[in-house]
Amino acid sequence: MPGPDPSAYLVLSLANTARAEPDTDLLQTREQAAAWLRAQALLPADAGLTGSEHAALLRLRESVRDLLAAHTDGRQDAAAAARLTRALADGRLVLTVDPGSAVGLASAARASYSGVVAGVAVAIARSAAAGTWPRLKSCAAADCGQAFLDESAAATALYCGAHAAGEAGEAGTGGPG
Ligand SMILES: [Zn+2]
Repeated sequence: MPGPDPSAYLVLSLANTARAEPDTDLLQTREQAAAWLRAQALLPADAGLTGSEHAALLRLRESVRDLLAAHTDGRQDAAAAARLTRALADGRLVLTVDPGSAVGLASAARASYSGVVAGVAVAIARSAAAGTWPRLKSCAAADCGQAFLDESAAATALYCGAHAAGEAGEAGTGGPG
């Protein structure tokens, strides 16, 4: 059983910065995105985002969201996987060994945006190591798409907590109306 996994929740939080209903995007502007990243301790207080970094962050998020949807559907999305791999390369993740022989992951780049991406990459790697990554899904209910951690024993959940009860007895995902 997956235990508490902060790394999984960081990935979910990133995916859930975009919501279909109500239509909101916590990363909509550079300023909003920088504020969100600072709140997640991914960006230093005095750092911001350039326009191209902001665009790259949105591409990173979309590739994560696409893969979470693929997890829900139980299908492979090679294009999304390739886009995520490419986006994560900005983190320039390297393995470090300290004098006490403790091993860690860090960004080889000094740019603050590389630190952001490295933070997301480490969260995904830890989530995968903990076994939660394939259980990170997006809700299949119409107009929802909220990212959630599937904690069902068989890892077959399709819906977020808000929709699980209502959709369980329905054949489709259309919902009322
Ligand atoms: Zn939902």
